[in-house]
Amino acid sequence: MSIEVLNLSKQFGTFTALHDVNLQVHSGELLALLGPSGSGKTTLLRVIAGLETADSGQVLFHGEDATDQHVRERQVGFVFQHYALFRNMTIFENVAFGLRVRPKKFRPPETEIRDRVMKLLHLVQLDWLADRYPHQLSGGQRQRIALARALAVEPKVLLLDEPFGALDAKVRKELRSWLRRLHDDMHITSVFVTHDQEEALEVADRVVVMNEGRIEQIGTPDEVYEQPASPFVYEFLGNVNLFHSRLHRGRAWIGDIEVDVPEHAEADELTAVAYVRPHEIEVERTQNGEAALAARVVHVLSVGPIVRLEVVRIDDADKTPIQVEISKERFRELQLVKGDEVFIKPRRLDLFPKHQNSVNDTAQAQ
Ligand code: ATP
Repeated sequence: MSIEVLNLSKQFGTFTALHDVNLQVHSGELLALLGPSGSGKTTLLRVIAGLETADSGQVLFHGEDATDQHVRERQVGFVFQHYALFRNMTIFENVAFGLRVRPKKFRPPETEIRDRVMKLLHLVQLDWLADRYPHQLSGGQRQRIALARALAVEPKVLLLDEPFGALDAKVRKELRSWLRRLHDDMHITSVFVTHDQEEALEVADRVVVMNEGRIEQIGTPDEVYEQPASPFVYEFLGNVNLFHSRLHRGRAWIGDIEVDVPEHAEADELTAVAYVRPHEIEVERTQNGEAALAARVVHVLSVGPIVRLEVVRIDDADKTPIQVEISKERFRELQLVKGDEVFIKPRRLDLFPKHQNSVNDTAQAQ
């Protein structure tokens, strides 16, 4: 079942939660809606579900207009962050619930219900808990039951709103890879909301990055991480250093390093900001005849196989920290200690003209 969202807008009073959103969810894909708090992810999910009505625009399910369809007719399954299971029902009965409440003529016979529920409990690897009650389960187990319950009615689409949001970091990680494997087995079209970049990049086939009710970028995890379409996406998806650059006659410099200028920025006398990921910066002891920025090491932090350096450009009166990540092996070669002078050079960067740039004048962003 594919989903198409066309020119969707939604206001709450004078506040615009969704601005003319367009989105295509392919049949069988696992799509993440990723963005900071208040960016409109849940509103978009709820409009797709039919729990919220948009002011304008359409939602198509498999090419058919579902805009005026009631939530029940859309055949969607939900999993929410706090999916309250029925406390007085066993796990088995919780999963069977959606089937039992069907009108008699649509209700499967008891043997089929039993069969289907046990298959689902097996699928979420919790069949051994069928006779327990929700309070006897861990948070992670409860979310897996919530998923089994959503799947019991054989939805055409699965919608998950921060499904692992309330769980601790370790359980979250386990459930992430579990969800990925489950999706690979079932291929049910699924959309999940998260504000956790790692979760979206690790689990989804494609990621939709949202900001202030708009879609900033849609792409595979690799595309959005490696080729961010905007400064916002750069900053939202991981650490990045910002280098302010002079632009003149279609050429740009960071210190003495000349960098490529994107075509759209070839106006005279503009400034621009170059975005560089910490692992895309080379560090040398000597300048080696190439243009580089002289810097001083102010902090060294070894984290597993990676060493994080904080350096400051020698010519920077503001002493803005620059984050650099190198391998432990390279760190050993360089034998760096705090206070050493080094030369740094961005291996890869993206330049955004300043007037298109929404960030303030800081030189480093998390
Ligand atoms: P979070 O990660 O915090 O859940 P989100 O990206 O899912 O955020 P939404 O829940 O879609 O964001 O909300 C988008 C904006 O719309 C927010 O500013 C929110 O306050 C506002 N909003 C959402 N629902 C309502 C409502 N029923 N009435 C008024 N404002 C609302």
